[in-house]
Amino acid sequence: MVEPMVQLTFYGGINEIGGNKILLEDNEGKLFLDFGFPYKRHKLFYEEYLKPRSGAGLLDPLAMGLLPPLEGLYRDDLETPVLWQDFRHASTYRKLERLDGVLLSHAHLDHSGYIAFLREDIPVYATAVTAFITKAMQDSGKSDFDQQVCYFSPTTRECPTGWKQTAYLTGNIAKHQRQFGIADVKLEDLSPEAIQFWNWGFWEKAAKQKDLVSRPMTSHSDCSFNLRCFHVDHSIPGACAWGIETSSGWVIYSGDLRFHGKRAESTRRFIDEAAALRPKALILEGTNVLRETNVAEREVYENGLKAIYDSNGLIIADFSPRDLDRLLTFLQIAKDTGRKLAILPKDAYLLKAMHLLEPEIPDITQETGLVIYQDTIASRYPSLWVRHICQEYESKIVLADDVRSTQDQFILCFSFFDLNELPSICPKPGSLYVYSSSEPHDEEQEIDFRRLHNWLKHFELKGVGLPIESNGSWRVPDSEKGLHASGHACGPDLLRIAREINPEVLIPVHSEYPGFYVDQLRSSQINIILPTVGGKLEI
Ligand SMILES: [Zn+2]
Repeated sequence: MVEPMVQLTFYGGINEIGGNKILLEDNEGKLFLDFGFPYKRHKLFYEEYLKPRSGAGLLDPLAMGLLPPLEGLYRDDLETPVLWQDFRHASTYRKLERLDGVLLSHAHLDHSGYIAFLREDIPVYATAVTAFITKAMQDSGKSDFDQQVCYFSPTTRECPTGWKQTAYLTGNIAKHQRQFGIADVKLEDLSPEAIQFWNWGFWEKAAKQKDLVSRPMTSHSDCSFNLRCFHVDHSIPGACAWGIETSSGWVIYSGDLRFHGKRAESTRRFIDEAAALRPKALILEGTNVLRETNVAEREVYENGLKAIYDSNGLIIADFSPRDLDRLLTFLQIAKDTGRKLAILPKDAYLLKAMHLLEPEIPDITQETGLVIYQDTIASRYPSLWVRHICQEYESKIVLADDVRSTQDQFILCFSFFDLNELPSICPKPGSLYVYSSSEPHDEEQEIDFRRLHNWLKHFELKGVGLPIESNGSWRVPDSEKGLHASGHACGPDLLRIAREINPEVLIPVHSEYPGFYVDQLRSSQINIILPTVGGKLEI
């Protein structure tokens, strides 16, 4: 009998949406497929004001079962000499001498966040757009120590004897960039501006050069595995699926994907190319297995236009700023209704970074339908990157007073967390709040939704597409549906992907209902295997 040589171990993304961390081992070679932030488990213990202690390094995430106990995998500066004594008895403990890299599917934190903990010499393989988004998100946001994907600030111990006695220096601005191997763009094709952005870019004067450890991008062909990277359509640009050639055959990892966005063609191409490899195994997401149909991005445009067309007050559009498709949808609606789309500086920063790679993404300077809303407090004490954005696009800046005086000229891209700007804007009664995002998934989000409804009531705004609580569940009224397109394929589309790629083995991940595939593919030739957390599969 031939011994199976390829092993898959699932450290996250099992019976949950997100937190994917899948270890693939083939003889000496080892790869992780994503290394995501485990939102579901994190929320069991933590909230905004109760977080893992950054000063305790790896201790808190290991002790709370957020991070697998794999000695040798994580950053030295987060360990203490005694740290592993507590975890060597754990059933999933292992010493990992080497890792060839992480294959990152896209820049959503439930797939990328915990890369923050990995040793800095472990390469991260990704598309160029994904790499740039991880950097733009960090440059323009406040990343907690457990979400620093593109670069991190190493902690410095004053006393190295143990975590209880360690004191970490505060105000450390040193930044170490991770090694990214780019899978879809030749490095020589990148523009000097793109390379400049990667090497700290738009705000490089902000820190002393000695504090910045820059790492030029390399190529995914440096990896010891033969890899294929397939672009797919998802609610963030740069998403991909991966193919890994192993001694058992090709293993395909879908990441997150759909057919109903603006890049649906890339998902179709992925299926054809993956099927042609006659794969041994397909690791497939199943977020929306129970949904029968999808709302397409095109319908969001049509429904959004209909909702906004006759409105003569202010429009606030609430959607994820990293969902470029949605931003372009609302930009088109703004143009078609004679308004301007006002984005926040962090959205402008992200757009500028993506434009460096994809010229078809709007250039803020040239795009007449776009302006940048500089928030009231930031305009008094802006951080350096905001100052840079606001200087570069000076003619595009609008302030609260501009919006207040001409409310029918704007669609403001705000989320719930930007509503504290409203006292400066004073929206006219009857102005519209267009909700174009998903329904609440947990109690904390439900509390935020109640607050959101209070804000709308207070300012006499009319909500559209907004989930409403009824008999303990939150639903968008039927007449207001179709203002949000999910990032994930529905059940029939996922079954089509499975059948057309037709692997020997299908392994569902990123799903609360993995048994769906067992039920629906019973009569097919495909062998469905349901993994367990920390469990090992041999293929
Ligand atoms: Zn995603």
